[in-house]
Amino acid sequence: MPSNYKTALKNPVFRVISKAAKDLQLETYVIGGFVRDHILERGSAKDIDIVAVGSGIELAKAVSKLLPGTPNVSVFKNYGTAMLKTGGIELEFVGARKESYAEDSRNPSVENGTLQDDQNRRDFTINALAISLNETTFGDLLDPFGGIKDLQKKTIRTPLDPDITYSDDPLRMLRAIRFATQLDFMIEPASLEAITRNANRIKIISKERIVDEINKILMASVPSKGFALLHKTKLLQYIFPELLALQGIEEKEGQRHKDNFWHTLEVVDNISETTDNLWLRWAALLHDIGKAPTKRFDKKIGWTFHAHEFVGSKMVFKLFKRLKMPLNDKMKFVQKMVLMSSRPIVLASEVTDSAVRRLVFDAGDYVEDLMTLCEADITTKNPKKFKKYHSNFQLVRSKISEVEERDRIRNFQPPVSGEEIMKTFNLKPSREIGIIKEAIKEAILEGEIPNEYEPAKAFMLKKGKALGLTEA
Ligand code: ATP
Repeated sequence: MPSNYKTALKNPVFRVISKAAKDLQLETYVIGGFVRDHILERGSAKDIDIVAVGSGIELAKAVSKLLPGTPNVSVFKNYGTAMLKTGGIELEFVGARKESYAEDSRNPSVENGTLQDDQNRRDFTINALAISLNETTFGDLLDPFGGIKDLQKKTIRTPLDPDITYSDDPLRMLRAIRFATQLDFMIEPASLEAITRNANRIKIISKERIVDEINKILMASVPSKGFALLHKTKLLQYIFPELLALQGIEEKEGQRHKDNFWHTLEVVDNISETTDNLWLRWAALLHDIGKAPTKRFDKKIGWTFHAHEFVGSKMVFKLFKRLKMPLNDKMKFVQKMVLMSSRPIVLASEVTDSAVRRLVFDAGDYVEDLMTLCEADITTKNPKKFKKYHSNFQLVRSKISEVEERDRIRNFQPPVSGEEIMKTFNLKPSREIGIIKEAIKEAILEGEIPNEYEPAKAFMLKKGKALGLTEA
């Protein structure tokens, strides 16, 4: 590894920062994720953290003046930071600081410090790497804790005593697991033990922060790594007790059910190979969540999880609410996926047109997402079954497109409107209209009539007559 990292500083903005720092006689460095990701060749980061030994805010203002268009500087006085956007990147400026923590808060009291103090307050050795922007040492790497070595060894390690680091700011426990998952690193044993010891400290972290990290874990290429670490360190019981409740295999009278926690993680990994839709990944994570409260043993049929999809979809709401996640259309999507998560599986054993029509009708625009979820749900280790299930789903998929083409059931609009029914039979708004409309819909879904105007109208007349109505 070279000791000069000028190559990281190709963006001309670094020379501009260097010039402004020189004018203000401030020692200045680029630090943190940008340096780490450059060395890991993870593509150039869009957020760049600049630390100045002195006022970061003054430096930001001076940099802005030297940049084309003098970009606006947002100042966050309380945090002593400033931010500006230029050429598609975000520069965040902060004065070097020394931090000390109180027991009950992750917000430290802060005083001005040296670069070394500032590196000490960083969470991991790989995040404490700094590159000099000072004129005479431009590009020199400052790596006081062996961050480069840890990058090579793919290790997450704290610069200081891990017990202190994690207890001071328990969010770092989740960050450690998130980085280990995103970068496919291991967390060094001392750190892992410290996280386990301090797991209950996660209680002082806001739900929003926790969810931010969970989302990043979920968006990694192999999210199960993160959830397995949450499980191992006992953080899971504080964050997702519902998931933890899925863990374990029970045996009664020689009958066992699968471990639904590890199964769930497999499903999440499977789906992550086919979709980057965060909410579909959430759906995979929660698809079996209702299995713990619905688990029963029946002497004749063995283990059952009756109505777990319905119970699970109700639990999604509670879980989103507890984690202060948005209770909006994203949540409704996850609920819908959980509620319908067994439908295509049932279908796969016997694909009738009417069942496919009903599936498309109920899932609407989400039918492809639902199929993606159900295919990810195939975790059997029996290669014969694996192949069979997948080819069944192929069949369901082609049936779906067939039915779609013919019957246009997705986002179903009744071919005969309520208004027309009223006119035809000279009716005021009444129960009969609902009955006729529902009967038309059922006839279409059952395949008795095609989803077209004329046959629907004829069906309406017949149904009206059967109800004792006469044409106007
Ligand atoms: P990413 O952008 O992938 O989240 P990052 O390392 O840039 O990675 P940020 O949250 O932007 O993450 O943090 C920037 C830097 O600030 C980190 O690299 C680290 O040095 C420091 N940092 C952030 N959060 C903490 C924390 N909770 N404790 C200590 N240092 C932190």
